[in-house]
Amino acid sequence: MMEYRKFGSTDWTGSILGFGAMRLPVTDKKDRSKIDEPLARQMMAYAIDHGVNYLDTAYLYHDGESERVVGRFLKDGYRDKVKLATKLPARIVHSPDDFDRFLNEQLKRLQTDHIDFYLLHALNHETWPKVRKMNVLKWAESAKAQGRIGRLGFSFHDDLDTFKDIIDAYDQWALCQIQYNFMDTEYQAGTEGLNYAAQKGLAVVIMEPIRGGHLAKEPPPRIKDILAKAPKQRTQAEWALQWVWDQPGISLVLSGMTALEHVMENCALAARASENKLSAEELKLLAEVKEAYRRLCPIPCTNCQYCMPCTNDVRINRILELYNEVFMYDDTRVPRMRYSQIHADQRADQCIECGTCEDSCPQSIPIQEWLKKAHDLLAPKKL
Ligand code: SF4
Ligand code: SF4
Repeated sequence: MMEYRKFGSTDWTGSILGFGAMRLPVTDKKDRSKIDEPLARQMMAYAIDHGVNYLDTAYLYHDGESERVVGRFLKDGYRDKVKLATKLPARIVHSPDDFDRFLNEQLKRLQTDHIDFYLLHALNHETWPKVRKMNVLKWAESAKAQGRIGRLGFSFHDDLDTFKDIIDAYDQWALCQIQYNFMDTEYQAGTEGLNYAAQKGLAVVIMEPIRGGHLAKEPPPRIKDILAKAPKQRTQAEWALQWVWDQPGISLVLSGMTALEHVMENCALAARASENKLSAEELKLLAEVKEAYRRLCPIPCTNCQYCMPCTNDVRINRILELYNEVFMYDDTRVPRMRYSQIHADQRADQCIECGTCEDSCPQSIPIQEWLKKAHDLLAPKKL
C-alpha cells in the first residue's frame, strides 16, 4: 500500500511518490515536444491506479506539450483522483499581464477550471525580485479567491539565503519544491533549507532524488564494493529514494520517470517505504558512498565559496562542481546541459585572469587553470 503523508500544514494527505511529467518518454530524442502519448498515458494511469495522488507539470516542460498531454489524460476520468500542480514560468514573465495570460493558457491546456497547487517556477535571486516587484503575490491571492488556483508554492534553484528570503516574504506559501538527494545535502536549499521550510509548515516536495538519474546508474567499482557490505541488497534507485523518504520534513518525492518500468519500480518502493527504513549501519554506508564519490573528483573544491564573488562574475564553484561531476558519474551529458544553463556572461571563458580568487582559496586550487579545462570540456562545441 502506498504511504501517505500530511502535506505540510494543509489539510490534505499526499502520496510520498508524486508523478513528475517533466521527463515523459518521447518518440524523437532530438525533439522534447514529441511525447510518446500512449506510453505517457499508460505510465500516469499506472501510477494513479497504484496510489499516486499528485501530478506535477509546468508551462515549460516538453515545450508546453507536457501540460497538453496531462490535460487530455486527466479528462478521461482521472482529474478527481489527483491534485494537479503546475508552474508559472517566472523566467519568461515580462509584465504583470503575463500572470493571467499564462494561467489562462494553462487552464486551457490542462482542460480544467482550477490548478490545485500553483508554483512559481525556478525562483532564484533574479526571478524572485522581478515577479515580486510585479506584485505576483497579490495577483495569486486574487486567483485563489476566484478559485482558479488552490494553494501557492514555488520551486527553487539558488542558494540557501535566497531560499530563506523567499520563505520569509510570504506567510501563505503552501509548498516548496527543492533539489535534494544524499549527495546534495549542502547544495542550494540543502538540509538546512528543508528543515527551515518544514518548520514553517510548508510541504516540502523533492525533485532530483536520484540526481538526474546518476544515482540509479550502475556505480563505479569502488562504490559497488561499499554497498556490497550492506546487510540487505537494494537497487541503486532504492538506496537513493529510501534515503530521501527517511528524512523527516519531506512530504513528497517527484522522480522524473521516463519508462513504465521506472513507474512500476518506484510505486513498489513507495509502497514498502515505511517498513523499509534505512538502519544506522546503512546510513553509515551511504555516507561512505558519498565520500567515495567525492574522492573521484579531480578538483579538491569544498564549495566553501571563499573565492566568490568573482571579479568578473564567473560562477567559479558551480563550474568546478560540474567539471567534477563528469568524473564522479562518468557522464558528460548532464554536466554539459547544466553548464549551458549558466548565463553566458558567467561561464568559465569570462575569466579575466585577475588571480583574486586563487588568493582566497583555502585549498590552493589553481582555479584559472581548471576553469579553462572545464570550459573546454563543458562548453558546446562550435561547428
Ligand atoms: S581569476 Fe578569473 S575566476 Fe578568478 S576572480 Fe579573476 S576573473 Fe574571476
Ligand atoms: S575557494 Fe577554493 S575550495 Fe572554496 S569554493 Fe572556491 S575553489 Fe572551491
